[in-house]
Amino acid sequence: MTYVRIGFCPILPTLTPHAKVFPMSIAPMPAVLVFAGTDPTGGAGLQADILTLASMGCHPLSVVTAVTVQDTVGVDDFMPMDADWIADQARSVLEDMPVAAIKIGMIGSVEAVAAIAEIVSDYPDIPLVLDPVLTSGRGDPLANEELLDALRDLLLPQASILTPNSLEARRLAENPDEENDDPELSECARRLIDMGCEYILITGAHEQGAQVSNTLYNTRGVVHRLNWDRLPGSYHGSGCTLASAIAALLALGQDVSEAVKEAQEYTYQTLKNAYRPGMGQFIPDRLYWVRGDDED
Ligand code: PLP
Repeated sequence: MTYVRIGFCPILPTLTPHAKVFPMSIAPMPAVLVFAGTDPTGGAGLQADILTLASMGCHPLSVVTAVTVQDTVGVDDFMPMDADWIADQARSVLEDMPVAAIKIGMIGSVEAVAAIAEIVSDYPDIPLVLDPVLTSGRGDPLANEELLDALRDLLLPQASILTPNSLEARRLAENPDEENDDPELSECARRLIDMGCEYILITGAHEQGAQVSNTLYNTRGVVHRLNWDRLPGSYHGSGCTLASAIAALLALGQDVSEAVKEAQEYTYQTLKNAYRPGMGQFIPDRLYWVRGDDED
């Protein structure tokens, strides 16, 4: 154990006179800051993010943006956290320790989008993964049109990578001025890149076909497309798992293209090993490797 003597510390003015010597260990893993809603089932949201980050060797820092009432079937209700409370939670940890990546999931209110946008704009060098959570797996709304506008205007331009599923990509990219606007996914990607995010990964589980096709785009078009055998069943928290895994790998030093490939491999294994703790959807097993179930 290494000890460090603390002299004047502006962040801990009340502690320093009493505790002059603190035990200090060099952090063995990068910290990833997550903004997300809670999910008491442990399937999606903050709980999914924490499990994924820990499983991938990162230290999870968790800012609660909303509290949900849900089971593995669907979301019954949610209460957005006050925007000032979100900002205070985040500023406290950001001022306390280095953060290697930030991931944003469910946000809950327009005020919270504005507060989070202001915070991340103060840390432009930290990679930012934006997972635009618009509905639950059952289709319960988790964001309204006003929140969508705020996402497009304030957060999307700051994202290193945006990770919508195909339904979310179409909603975010749709042009309200054009009647019957139904763009192809490649056109959605182009529009969303034009709004300012660096990369966009559109996942294809909601599209038809024996395979699920996930495509990464940047300003030059398609970077890569990976196809996965479609697994039977419906999963709660797969999007959260994938986006958190990308954030973890960026924090561990990979570039976006590599991180996106490896995060998909990890997520696929969590889905192959998914379990059904309740009466609804399956939950990805983010710690499948602890149980030695990864035969492939
Ligand atoms: N975050 C919260 C708090 C949720 O309740 C949900 C879905 O219900 C999600 C995120 C998104 O989950 P998924 O990864 O299944 O898209």
